[in-house]
Amino acid sequence: MSQYRTFTAADAVEYAKQFGGVDDPSALVRAEEIGDGNLNLVFKIFDNQDRSRVVVKQALPYVRCVGESWPLTLDRARLEAQTLIAHYQHCPQHTVNVTHYDAELAVMVMEDLSSHQIWRGELVKGAYYPQAGRQVGEYLAQTLFHTSDFYLHPHKKKAEVARFINPEMCEITEDLFFNDPFIDHERNKYPAALESLVVSLRTDDALKIAVAGLKHRFFADAEALLHGDVHSGSIFVADNSLKVIDAEFGYFGPIGFDVGSAIGNLLINYCCLPGLLAPREAAEGRERRLSDVHDVVNQFSSRFLELAQEKTTDVALAYPGYAATFLQKVWRDTIGYCGTELIRRTVGMSHVADFKNIEDEVMRTECIRHCITLGRTLILAADHISDVDALIARIRQAG
Ligand code: ADP
Ligand code: MG
Repeated sequence: MSQYRTFTAADAVEYAKQFGGVDDPSALVRAEEIGDGNLNLVFKIFDNQDRSRVVVKQALPYVRCVGESWPLTLDRARLEAQTLIAHYQHCPQHTVNVTHYDAELAVMVMEDLSSHQIWRGELVKGAYYPQAGRQVGEYLAQTLFHTSDFYLHPHKKKAEVARFINPEMCEITEDLFFNDPFIDHERNKYPAALESLVVSLRTDDALKIAVAGLKHRFFADAEALLHGDVHSGSIFVADNSLKVIDAEFGYFGPIGFDVGSAIGNLLINYCCLPGLLAPREAAEGRERRLSDVHDVVNQFSSRFLELAQEKTTDVALAYPGYAATFLQKVWRDTIGYCGTELIRRTVGMSHVADFKNIEDEVMRTECIRHCITLGRTLILAADHISDVDALIARIRQAG
Protein backbone atom coordinates (compact mmCIF):
# COMPACT_ATOMS: atom_id res chain seq x y z
CA MET A 1 0.00 0.00 0.00
CA SER A 2 1.40 3.39 -0.96
CA GLN A 3 1.23 5.91 1.88
CA TYR A 4 0.14 9.48 1.11
CA ARG A 5 2.84 12.08 0.63
CA THR A 6 2.67 15.35 -1.28
CA PHE A 7 4.43 14.96 -4.63
CA THR A 8 7.41 17.04 -5.68
CA ALA A 9 7.99 17.55 -9.41
CA ALA A 10 10.57 14.71 -9.27
CA ASP A 11 8.02 12.38 -7.63
CA ALA A 12 5.53 13.21 -10.38
CA VAL A 13 8.08 12.29 -13.08
CA GLU A 14 8.87 8.97 -11.36
CA TYR A 15 5.18 8.24 -11.01
CA ALA A 16 4.53 9.01 -14.69
CA LYS A 17 7.41 6.73 -15.69
CA GLN A 18 5.80 3.90 -13.77
CA PHE A 19 2.12 4.51 -14.45
CA GLY A 20 1.96 7.01 -17.35
CA GLY A 21 1.36 4.31 -19.95
CA VAL A 22 3.82 5.92 -22.41
CA ASP A 23 5.83 3.66 -24.77
CA ASP A 24 9.17 5.19 -23.79
CA PRO A 25 9.00 5.94 -20.03
CA SER A 26 12.74 6.60 -19.74
CA ALA A 27 12.24 9.63 -22.05
CA LEU A 28 10.19 11.41 -19.35
CA VAL A 29 12.56 13.87 -17.72
CA ARG A 30 10.84 16.78 -16.02
CA ALA A 31 7.58 18.09 -14.56
CA GLU A 32 6.00 21.52 -14.28
CA GLU A 33 3.33 22.25 -11.68
CA ILE A 34 0.65 24.10 -13.64
CA GLY A 35 -2.33 23.97 -11.29
CA ASP A 36 -4.19 27.24 -11.54
CA GLY A 37 -7.10 25.68 -9.74
CA ASN A 38 -8.21 26.28 -6.23
CA LEU A 39 -7.72 22.82 -4.84
CA ASN A 40 -5.06 20.47 -6.22
CA LEU A 41 -1.57 19.94 -7.62
CA VAL A 42 -1.40 19.42 -11.39
CA PHE A 43 1.91 18.40 -13.03
CA LYS A 44 2.60 18.33 -16.76
CA ILE A 45 5.26 15.72 -17.52
CA PHE A 46 7.71 16.52 -20.34
CA ASP A 47 9.98 14.23 -22.36
CA ASN A 48 13.58 14.81 -23.46
CA GLN A 49 12.30 16.63 -26.61
CA ASP A 50 10.46 19.07 -24.32
CA ARG A 51 7.06 17.75 -25.38
CA SER A 52 4.41 17.41 -22.67
CA ARG A 53 3.16 13.82 -22.63
CA VAL A 54 0.87 13.14 -19.68
CA VAL A 55 -0.65 14.96 -16.71
CA VAL A 56 -0.37 13.85 -13.07
CA LYS A 57 -2.93 15.37 -10.68
CA GLN A 58 -2.77 14.98 -6.89
CA ALA A 59 -5.24 16.07 -4.24
CA LEU A 60 -3.88 17.92 -1.19
CA PRO A 61 -5.39 17.24 2.25
CA TYR A 62 -6.67 20.84 2.38
CA VAL A 63 -8.14 23.56 0.13
CA ARG A 64 -5.16 24.92 -1.78
CA CYS A 65 -6.38 28.51 -2.18
CA VAL A 66 -7.21 28.82 1.54
CA GLY A 67 -4.51 26.69 3.18
CA GLU A 68 -4.22 24.02 5.88
CA SER A 69 -6.87 25.76 8.00
CA TRP A 70 -9.50 24.29 5.62
CA PRO A 71 -8.91 20.51 5.58
CA LEU A 72 -10.53 18.50 2.80
CA THR A 73 -10.87 14.78 2.17
CA LEU A 74 -8.29 13.03 -0.03
CA ASP A 75 -11.09 10.68 -1.13
CA ARG A 76 -12.02 13.36 -3.66
CA ALA A 77 -9.21 12.08 -5.93
CA ARG A 78 -10.89 8.65 -6.08
CA LEU A 79 -14.26 10.31 -6.69
CA GLU A 80 -12.82 12.50 -9.44
CA ALA A 81 -11.03 9.62 -11.16
CA GLN A 82 -14.01 7.28 -10.91
CA THR A 83 -16.48 9.93 -12.12
CA LEU A 84 -14.29 10.75 -15.12
CA ILE A 85 -13.78 7.04 -15.87
CA ALA A 86 -17.56 6.44 -15.72
CA HIS A 87 -18.24 9.47 -17.92
CA TYR A 88 -15.50 8.44 -20.36
CA GLN A 89 -17.19 5.08 -20.72
CA HIS A 90 -20.38 6.77 -21.94
CA CYS A 91 -18.92 9.82 -23.69
CA PRO A 92 -15.24 9.24 -24.61
CA GLN A 93 -15.27 12.03 -27.19
CA HIS A 94 -15.92 14.72 -24.56
CA THR A 95 -14.33 13.37 -21.35
CA VAL A 96 -10.63 13.49 -20.43
CA ASN A 97 -9.11 10.00 -20.45
CA VAL A 98 -7.93 9.03 -16.93
CA THR A 99 -5.63 6.04 -17.41
CA HIS A 100 -4.59 5.30 -13.82
CA TYR A 101 -5.36 6.34 -10.26
CA ASP A 102 -4.20 5.48 -6.75
CA ALA A 103 -6.63 6.16 -3.92
CA GLU A 104 -3.93 6.10 -1.17
CA LEU A 105 -1.73 8.65 -2.89
CA ALA A 106 -4.83 10.58 -4.06
CA VAL A 107 -3.23 10.79 -7.48
CA MET A 108 -4.31 10.17 -11.07
CA VAL A 109 -2.68 10.10 -14.48
CA MET A 110 -4.57 11.47 -17.48
CA GLU A 111 -4.16 12.42 -21.10
CA ASP A 112 -2.38 15.68 -21.76
CA LEU A 113 -4.72 18.27 -23.26
CA SER A 114 -2.12 20.92 -24.04
CA SER A 115 -3.45 21.13 -27.60
CA HIS A 116 -6.67 22.56 -26.09
CA GLN A 117 -7.50 25.77 -24.22
CA ILE A 118 -9.61 26.27 -21.11
CA TRP A 119 -12.97 27.54 -22.45
CA ARG A 120 -13.34 30.29 -19.82
CA GLY A 121 -10.12 31.95 -20.99
CA GLU A 122 -11.33 31.82 -24.59
CA LEU A 123 -14.73 33.26 -23.63
CA VAL A 124 -13.03 36.11 -21.79
CA LYS A 125 -10.96 36.92 -24.91
CA GLY A 126 -14.08 36.84 -27.11
CA ALA A 127 -12.96 33.71 -29.04
CA TYR A 128 -15.80 31.64 -30.49
CA TYR A 129 -16.05 27.86 -30.76
CA PRO A 130 -19.30 27.39 -32.69
CA GLN A 131 -19.55 23.67 -31.95
CA ALA A 132 -18.87 23.90 -28.20
CA GLY A 133 -22.47 24.38 -27.01
CA ARG A 134 -23.68 21.34 -28.91
CA GLN A 135 -20.73 19.29 -27.62
CA VAL A 136 -21.46 20.23 -24.00
CA GLY A 137 -25.11 19.23 -24.55
CA GLU A 138 -23.96 15.91 -25.97
CA TYR A 139 -21.63 15.31 -22.98
CA LEU A 140 -24.45 16.07 -20.53
CA ALA A 141 -27.00 13.87 -22.28
CA GLN A 142 -24.71 10.85 -22.67
CA THR A 143 -23.19 10.90 -19.18
CA LEU A 144 -26.41 11.73 -17.33
CA PHE A 145 -28.71 9.40 -19.25
CA HIS A 146 -26.39 6.38 -18.95
CA THR A 147 -25.97 6.82 -15.18
CA SER A 148 -29.70 7.33 -14.51
CA ASP A 149 -32.56 4.96 -13.65
CA PHE A 150 -33.62 5.09 -17.30
CA TYR A 151 -30.58 3.00 -18.16
CA LEU A 152 -29.03 1.28 -15.11
CA HIS A 153 -30.50 -1.84 -13.51
CA PRO A 154 -32.02 -0.82 -10.13
CA HIS A 155 -29.43 -2.88 -8.19
CA LYS A 156 -26.53 -1.44 -10.16
CA LYS A 157 -27.94 2.07 -9.76
CA LYS A 158 -28.06 1.74 -5.96
CA ALA A 159 -24.54 0.30 -5.85
CA GLU A 160 -23.35 3.25 -7.95
CA VAL A 161 -25.08 5.77 -5.68
CA ALA A 162 -23.19 4.17 -2.75
CA ARG A 163 -19.85 4.20 -4.61
CA PHE A 164 -20.22 7.91 -5.30
CA ILE A 165 -21.25 9.14 -1.86
CA ASN A 166 -19.31 12.42 -1.64
CA PRO A 167 -20.43 14.25 1.53
CA GLU A 168 -17.50 16.64 1.99
CA MET A 169 -17.48 18.00 -1.55
CA CYS A 170 -21.29 18.18 -1.57
CA GLU A 171 -21.14 20.19 1.64
CA ILE A 172 -18.99 22.79 -0.10
CA THR A 173 -21.66 23.17 -2.79
CA GLU A 174 -24.45 23.15 -0.21
CA ASP A 175 -22.77 26.02 1.65
CA LEU A 176 -21.40 28.08 -1.22
CA PHE A 177 -24.42 27.86 -3.56
CA PHE A 178 -27.41 27.71 -1.27
CA ASN A 179 -26.40 29.27 2.07
CA ASP A 180 -23.65 31.89 1.97
CA PRO A 181 -25.00 34.28 -0.70
CA PHE A 182 -28.39 34.45 1.02
CA ILE A 183 -27.09 35.25 4.52
CA ASP A 184 -24.53 37.63 5.96
CA HIS A 185 -21.42 35.42 5.76
CA GLU A 186 -17.72 36.30 6.10
CA ARG A 187 -16.87 34.26 2.98
CA ASN A 188 -19.04 36.52 0.77
CA LYS A 189 -17.28 39.09 -1.36
CA TYR A 190 -18.99 41.67 -3.59
CA PRO A 191 -18.62 45.37 -4.44
CA ALA A 192 -19.68 47.70 -1.62
CA ALA A 193 -21.89 49.60 -4.09
CA LEU A 194 -24.12 46.49 -4.33
CA GLU A 195 -24.71 46.20 -0.58
CA SER A 196 -28.42 47.06 -0.71
CA LEU A 197 -29.08 44.65 -3.60
CA VAL A 198 -27.27 41.83 -1.76
CA VAL A 199 -29.04 42.60 1.54
CA SER A 200 -32.38 42.43 -0.31
CA LEU A 201 -31.66 38.78 -1.27
CA ARG A 202 -31.56 37.84 2.42
CA THR A 203 -35.12 38.93 3.12
CA ASP A 204 -36.84 37.94 -0.12
CA ASP A 205 -39.20 35.18 1.07
CA ALA A 206 -40.11 33.86 -2.38
CA LEU A 207 -36.41 33.69 -3.32
CA LYS A 208 -35.36 31.98 -0.08
CA ILE A 209 -38.14 29.37 -0.45
CA ALA A 210 -37.14 28.68 -4.06
CA VAL A 211 -33.46 28.35 -3.03
CA ALA A 212 -34.44 26.01 -0.18
CA GLY A 213 -36.21 23.84 -2.76
CA LEU A 214 -33.10 23.77 -4.95
CA LYS A 215 -30.91 22.85 -1.98
CA HIS A 216 -33.39 20.18 -0.91
CA ARG A 217 -33.34 18.61 -4.37
CA PHE A 218 -29.52 18.79 -4.36
CA PHE A 219 -29.62 16.78 -1.10
CA ALA A 220 -32.28 14.30 -2.14
CA ASP A 221 -32.68 13.76 -5.91
CA ALA A 222 -30.16 11.03 -6.83
CA GLU A 223 -31.05 11.13 -10.53
CA ALA A 224 -27.69 10.56 -12.21
CA LEU A 225 -23.91 10.69 -11.69
CA LEU A 226 -23.24 14.42 -11.98
CA HIS A 227 -19.93 16.03 -12.84
CA GLY A 228 -20.86 18.41 -10.04
CA ASP A 229 -18.81 21.43 -11.19
CA VAL A 230 -19.18 21.68 -14.94
CA HIS A 231 -18.25 25.35 -15.41
CA SER A 232 -16.30 26.83 -18.33
CA GLY A 233 -13.03 26.47 -16.34
CA SER A 234 -13.53 22.67 -16.27
CA ILE A 235 -13.92 22.45 -20.05
CA PHE A 236 -11.08 22.30 -22.58
CA VAL A 237 -11.85 23.36 -26.16
CA ALA A 238 -10.05 23.24 -29.51
CA ASP A 239 -11.29 23.52 -33.09
CA ASN A 240 -13.92 20.83 -33.26
CA SER A 241 -12.97 19.21 -29.95
CA LEU A 242 -14.22 19.59 -26.38
CA LYS A 243 -13.10 17.68 -23.27
CA VAL A 244 -14.42 17.95 -19.73
CA ILE A 245 -11.98 17.63 -16.76
CA ASP A 246 -12.00 18.13 -12.98
CA ALA A 247 -14.93 16.06 -11.61
CA GLU A 248 -14.11 15.90 -7.89
CA PHE A 249 -17.61 17.10 -6.99
CA GLY A 250 -19.08 14.03 -8.73
CA TYR A 251 -22.05 12.39 -6.94
CA PHE A 252 -25.60 11.25 -7.72
CA GLY A 253 -27.73 14.37 -7.78
CA PRO A 254 -30.35 16.29 -9.79
CA ILE A 255 -29.56 16.37 -13.51
CA GLY A 256 -30.56 20.03 -13.77
CA PHE A 257 -27.65 20.95 -11.51
CA ASP A 258 -25.10 20.02 -14.20
CA VAL A 259 -27.10 21.53 -17.06
CA GLY A 260 -27.72 24.70 -15.02
CA SER A 261 -24.03 25.05 -14.04
CA ALA A 262 -22.98 24.78 -17.69
CA ILE A 263 -25.41 27.39 -19.00
CA GLY A 264 -24.93 29.55 -15.89
CA ASN A 265 -21.28 30.06 -16.77
CA LEU A 266 -22.21 31.04 -20.32
CA LEU A 267 -24.60 33.62 -18.87
CA ILE A 268 -21.89 34.93 -16.53
CA ASN A 269 -19.82 35.56 -19.63
CA TYR A 270 -22.87 37.17 -21.30
CA CYS A 271 -23.18 39.61 -18.39
CA CYS A 272 -19.44 40.41 -18.43
CA LEU A 273 -18.85 40.94 -22.16
CA PRO A 274 -19.68 44.70 -22.15
CA GLY A 275 -16.83 45.12 -19.64
CA LEU A 276 -14.40 42.90 -21.54
CA LEU A 277 -14.78 43.88 -25.21
CA ALA A 278 -15.50 46.96 -27.33
CA PRO A 279 -19.26 47.61 -27.79
CA ARG A 280 -19.67 46.01 -31.21
CA GLU A 281 -17.65 42.88 -30.32
CA ALA A 282 -19.48 42.63 -27.00
CA ALA A 283 -22.88 42.72 -28.74
CA GLU A 284 -21.76 40.05 -31.19
CA GLY A 285 -20.28 37.96 -28.36
CA ARG A 286 -23.56 38.14 -26.47
CA GLU A 287 -25.49 36.76 -29.42
CA ARG A 288 -22.98 33.92 -29.60
CA ARG A 289 -23.43 33.14 -25.90
CA LEU A 290 -27.20 32.98 -26.34
CA SER A 291 -26.69 30.69 -29.28
CA ASP A 292 -24.33 28.53 -27.13
CA VAL A 293 -27.04 28.32 -24.44
CA HIS A 294 -29.58 27.34 -27.10
CA ASP A 295 -27.24 24.62 -28.44
CA VAL A 296 -26.45 23.17 -24.98
CA VAL A 297 -30.12 22.90 -24.07
CA ASN A 298 -31.34 21.62 -27.45
CA GLN A 299 -28.63 19.02 -27.84
CA PHE A 300 -29.01 17.86 -24.23
CA SER A 301 -32.78 17.46 -24.38
CA SER A 302 -33.06 16.01 -27.89
CA ARG A 303 -30.27 13.48 -27.27
CA PHE A 304 -31.58 12.54 -23.82
CA LEU A 305 -35.04 11.93 -25.29
CA GLU A 306 -33.62 9.92 -28.16
CA LEU A 307 -31.56 7.77 -25.75
CA ALA A 308 -34.61 7.31 -23.53
CA GLN A 309 -36.70 6.13 -26.48
CA GLU A 310 -34.02 3.70 -27.67
CA LYS A 311 -32.47 2.44 -24.48
CA THR A 312 -34.73 2.77 -21.43
CA THR A 313 -34.63 -0.57 -19.61
CA ASP A 314 -37.25 0.00 -16.88
CA VAL A 315 -40.74 -0.93 -18.03
CA ALA A 316 -42.55 1.88 -16.19
CA LEU A 317 -40.04 4.59 -17.12
CA ALA A 318 -40.23 3.44 -20.76
CA TYR A 319 -43.92 4.39 -21.01
CA PRO A 320 -44.33 6.82 -23.93
CA GLY A 321 -44.37 10.39 -22.69
CA TYR A 322 -42.69 9.75 -19.34
CA ALA A 323 -39.16 10.79 -20.42
CA ALA A 324 -40.53 14.07 -21.81
CA THR A 325 -42.40 14.69 -18.53
CA PHE A 326 -39.22 14.02 -16.55
CA LEU A 327 -37.29 16.44 -18.78
CA GLN A 328 -39.75 19.19 -17.82
CA LYS A 329 -38.72 18.69 -14.18
CA VAL A 330 -35.06 18.74 -15.25
CA TRP A 331 -35.70 21.98 -17.17
CA ARG A 332 -37.23 23.76 -14.13
CA ASP A 333 -34.26 22.62 -12.04
CA THR A 334 -31.85 23.75 -14.76
CA ILE A 335 -33.15 27.33 -14.67
CA GLY A 336 -33.09 27.44 -10.86
CA TYR A 337 -29.57 26.03 -10.52
CA CYS A 338 -28.39 28.33 -13.30
CA GLY A 339 -29.69 31.23 -11.20
CA THR A 340 -27.83 30.02 -8.10
CA GLU A 341 -24.60 29.72 -10.13
CA LEU A 342 -24.95 33.38 -11.20
CA ILE A 343 -25.40 34.47 -7.60
CA ARG A 344 -22.77 32.30 -5.94
CA ARG A 345 -20.12 33.48 -8.44
CA THR A 346 -20.84 37.14 -7.68
CA VAL A 347 -22.01 37.40 -4.07
CA GLY A 348 -20.20 34.30 -2.76
CA MET A 349 -16.51 33.51 -2.52
CA SER A 350 -15.82 31.72 -5.84
CA HIS A 351 -15.21 34.53 -8.28
CA VAL A 352 -14.24 33.95 -11.90
CA ALA A 353 -11.97 35.47 -14.54
CA ASP A 354 -14.90 36.88 -16.53
CA PHE A 355 -15.40 39.54 -13.82
CA LYS A 356 -11.82 39.79 -12.62
CA ASN A 357 -10.64 40.79 -16.10
CA ILE A 358 -12.91 43.83 -16.28
CA GLU A 359 -10.53 46.70 -15.59
CA ASP A 360 -12.99 49.53 -15.13
CA GLU A 361 -14.39 49.30 -11.62
CA VAL A 362 -17.73 50.99 -12.35
CA MET A 363 -18.29 48.76 -15.36
CA ARG A 364 -17.31 45.67 -13.34
CA THR A 365 -19.84 46.58 -10.65
CA GLU A 366 -22.57 47.04 -13.27
CA CYS A 367 -21.79 43.65 -14.84
CA ILE A 368 -21.94 42.03 -11.39
CA ARG A 369 -25.25 43.78 -10.68
CA HIS A 370 -26.65 42.45 -13.94
CA CYS A 371 -25.52 38.92 -13.06
CA ILE A 372 -27.11 39.03 -9.59
CA THR A 373 -30.43 40.41 -10.85
CA LEU A 374 -30.56 37.89 -13.71
CA GLY A 375 -29.81 35.09 -11.22
CA ARG A 376 -32.63 36.23 -8.95
CA THR A 377 -35.07 36.51 -11.87
CA LEU A 378 -34.26 33.00 -13.07
CA ILE A 379 -34.62 31.42 -9.61
CA LEU A 380 -37.99 33.14 -9.11
CA ALA A 381 -39.32 32.45 -12.62
CA ALA A 382 -38.01 28.88 -13.00
CA ASP A 383 -41.49 27.32 -13.04
CA HIS A 384 -42.79 29.76 -15.63
CA ILE A 385 -40.15 29.63 -18.36
CA SER A 386 -41.48 27.02 -20.75
CA ASP A 387 -38.52 26.37 -23.01
CA VAL A 388 -35.14 27.63 -24.16
CA ASP A 389 -36.64 30.32 -26.41
CA ALA A 390 -38.62 31.69 -23.46
CA LEU A 391 -35.40 31.60 -21.41
CA ILE A 392 -33.53 33.59 -24.05
CA ALA A 393 -36.40 36.10 -24.25
CA ARG A 394 -36.18 36.57 -20.44
CA ILE A 395 -32.43 37.11 -20.63
CA ARG A 396 -32.85 39.74 -23.35
CA GLN A 397 -35.59 41.44 -21.28
CA ALA A 398 -33.25 41.62 -18.27
CA GLY A 399 -30.86 43.78 -20.34
P1 ADP B 1 -8.41 21.90 -9.67
O1 ADP B 1 -9.12 20.62 -9.29
O2 ADP B 1 -7.38 22.30 -8.68
O3 ADP B 1 -9.38 22.98 -10.06
P2 ADP B 1 -8.02 21.37 -12.51
O4 ADP B 1 -8.32 19.94 -12.81
O5 ADP B 1 -9.06 22.38 -12.85
O6 ADP B 1 -7.56 21.53 -10.98
O7 ADP B 1 -6.66 21.72 -13.24
C1 ADP B 1 -6.04 22.99 -13.04
C2 ADP B 1 -5.42 23.45 -14.36
O8 ADP B 1 -4.44 22.50 -14.80
C3 ADP B 1 -6.42 23.53 -15.50
O9 ADP B 1 -7.08 24.78 -15.51
C4 ADP B 1 -5.54 23.36 -16.71
O10 ADP B 1 -4.90 24.57 -17.04
C5 ADP B 1 -4.47 22.38 -16.21
N1 ADP B 1 -4.84 21.00 -16.56
C6 ADP B 1 -5.63 20.15 -15.84
N2 ADP B 1 -5.78 18.97 -16.46
C7 ADP B 1 -5.08 19.04 -17.60
C8 ADP B 1 -4.83 18.13 -18.72
N3 ADP B 1 -5.36 16.90 -18.73
N4 ADP B 1 -4.04 18.56 -19.72
C9 ADP B 1 -3.50 19.81 -19.71
N5 ADP B 1 -3.68 20.70 -18.71
C10 ADP B 1 -4.46 20.34 -17.67
MG1 MG C 1 -10.58 23.34 -11.61
